Amino acid sequence: MIAEVVINRNVKKLNKTFDYQIPEELQDQILIGSRVFVPFGNQKEPEEGFVVGIKETTRFQVKTICSVEGNRFLNQEDLELAKWMEKRYFCNLADCMKLLLPPGVTTKEIGNRVKEKNLKFVRLNKETEELEEEIKNRILKSEKQIQLIRFLMENGETLITEVEELSGVSRAVMKTLEKNGYVTIFEKQVERNPFLHKVVQKTGNLPLTEEQQNAFRQIADAMDDCFFSEFLLEGVTGSGKTEVYLQLIQKCLQEGKSSILLVPEISLTPQTVDRFLARFGEEKIAVLHSKLSIGERYDSWNKIKQGRAQIIIGARSAIFAPAQNLGLIIIDEEHDDSYKSEMTPRYQAKEVARYLARRENIPLVYGSATPALETRYRAQKEEICLLKLTKRANQASMPKVEIVDLRQELARGNHSMLSQRLFEEMQENLERKKQTILFLNRRGFSTFVMCRDCGYTAKCKNCDISLTYHRKEEKLKCHYCGYETNLLQVCPECKSKNIRYFGTGTQKLEEEIQKRFPGARTIRMDIDTVTKKNSHEEILNKFREEHFDILIGTQMVVKGHHFPDVTLVGVIAADSNLNMGDFRATEKTFQILTQVAGRAGREKEPGRVIIQTYNPDNFSIQCAKEQDYDVFYQTEMELRKQLKNPPFCDIIVIGIHSENLEYVQKVSQKLYQVMKKQIQTENLPVILYSPLPAPVDRIKNKIRWRMLLKCKFEDWVADFINQSIQICEQELKQKDLQKTNIVVDLNPTNMM
Ligand code: ADP
Ligand code: ZN
Ligand code: ZN
Repeated sequence: MIAEVVINRNVKKLNKTFDYQIPEELQDQILIGSRVFVPFGNQKEPEEGFVVGIKETTRFQVKTICSVEGNRFLNQEDLELAKWMEKRYFCNLADCMKLLLPPGVTTKEIGNRVKEKNLKFVRLNKETEELEEEIKNRILKSEKQIQLIRFLMENGETLITEVEELSGVSRAVMKTLEKNGYVTIFEKQVERNPFLHKVVQKTGNLPLTEEQQNAFRQIADAMDDCFFSEFLLEGVTGSGKTEVYLQLIQKCLQEGKSSILLVPEISLTPQTVDRFLARFGEEKIAVLHSKLSIGERYDSWNKIKQGRAQIIIGARSAIFAPAQNLGLIIIDEEHDDSYKSEMTPRYQAKEVARYLARRENIPLVYGSATPALETRYRAQKEEICLLKLTKRANQASMPKVEIVDLRQELARGNHSMLSQRLFEEMQENLERKKQTILFLNRRGFSTFVMCRDCGYTAKCKNCDISLTYHRKEEKLKCHYCGYETNLLQVCPECKSKNIRYFGTGTQKLEEEIQKRFPGARTIRMDIDTVTKKNSHEEILNKFREEHFDILIGTQMVVKGHHFPDVTLVGVIAADSNLNMGDFRATEKTFQILTQVAGRAGREKEPGRVIIQTYNPDNFSIQCAKEQDYDVFYQTEMELRKQLKNPPFCDIIVIGIHSENLEYVQKVSQKLYQVMKKQIQTENLPVILYSPLPAPVDRIKNKIRWRMLLKCKFEDWVADFINQSIQICEQELKQKDLQKTNIVVDLNPTNMM
């Protein structure tokens, strides 16, 4: 028999199948989806690959498969999904298949290490009474030995590292006791438990409000009918969407089905997970996200695969979890950008979820206070069933939002970052011992360096992006590639010493706050203060538990946190995102302002929100003030329609990247001509824009050009693009192509 194998290497050229002979003795083990090792090219080591087809004969002279990995992780269905992704997201089949494998197995060296975690434990060999006798009769007399034995009597079998740490007795003593037969040291495979040391108060179902009940009922009915259907749960912040999720998941659990809940990476905090732990206990839950070690992710994956965990909570990639008997998929904060992968394979988790829900005949629920226009448009067209939650669930009122015109502040001579109104409100909050959040949109707000005489700005030599000033280390850094350099004393262009550090970053804001409110305790959260594992969470916990007065932060403060004592939210400059040259800028601004405002007054005390802006009349800011999604939606949709932007079409970005400008231009031009010609001759409904440098036109020394296509994305579009690239490759010289990457991205969230 012959196996068709794809090679697991991220090389476009290798994205095809190769035929191999299946050895007689492996006939039973090699199936579609098997992971095999095969001789490849003139390499010494066998190459890793996946079997994607099996047939009787081949017309080629073929080599024989060397070995097969015992566990077969992928089945025919998985292969179908991978093939669907390969086409839709312009990537290699093997890369897609890898997403479906247990974490870590394809990485050769760590593969074996992650699989099992054997830890050393120590336990007593004798009964308590016997030991007490021996101590009494002074058969055992060493102080240290007795200390250790007493420790084990109290604690039972214990990790040896913990014994050392907690009993204060060295390992040598343990060894002596082992030699004399009192204790045994043994290895045991343990599950790495990410919930370790967690005590959570159990909660029960809350009686649902009428709106919640209606939403729950409709989705539950779809579940009972075993029907693929999509729901958009559009609920203002604090309207109790999560309670609806909890009760739907419970229904699944009762019926022996699994559910997947996707949340944005950044809101996958212990605080979020705790609500699920409190309802369902840790046994049934598996959490998957990028901060877990590969080993921890492997354990979660196994727990799911074996059907022990039926509630899967995770960021984007958790959609690929091997859920058993899947009954429901929920995507919370569905408008969030993190559901789109910015790395190969550049998939959109919402689309994968839809594929799976359709395959499994189950409901798919999107939840948000500010749905993506694309999703809401599908609801308007009745492809998705719209379910609204219009009121806050716990009787909390919606926050009162006020807009402050910064132009008027300037005219009045106020050059500080705080308007008079915000200053007053903050003062009042401080006096009343309530908490305040100040929100600063990061983009366009980083501190940069400029010569006041000639206008020179310091830029990264690899990326052509302004370097950011980091006060703590006294360095200039590039946020794209990590390049750093010392501060400038003299302008390299005009030799002036008149160098100025511009910008109003979070550091500067914190300094200003400390100056103007000398007694206030402030805490800052941004890309600089959030570094090591968990630190994001630590800052938020500190803010809440130690009752800091003011939290100053970037985007990170926006999502999914519940602070009972926050009654004031200040937005320092709402417009910093409006001019970033992305057609989604207004949508992003509206979403982020609505989310920030939603942080205020989530309990009994009503919340106030002050939005400072230079564009008080901009409709995204006005709509955020009114918390009026519908008006925002209508207005923005008109604009999108006029400009032929999504959701009225799909956008495909073809990036052409190389270190050499000449290659980039040649390849771009060629590809453009090939596509243009075909569009004209075949009269294809595609709008093609000519190639141009990308807004960020150099990253890590690669020059980046791009070409935009607008059309309705369907299979033929993928074929058209792939064929065009092939023709282009055939017609160009090897040299031009060799060091050029062509990257195709369907509906990227970041247009930079
Ligand atoms: P969302 O997910 O829409 O932001 P949450 O589910 O976090 O909203 O709910 C906000 C608050 O309202 C929480 O404190 C939650 O416990 C409470 N809550 C939700 N549903 C109910 C209900 N039916 N009755 C009482 N309180 C509720
Ligand atoms: Zn200068
Ligand atoms: Zn750089």
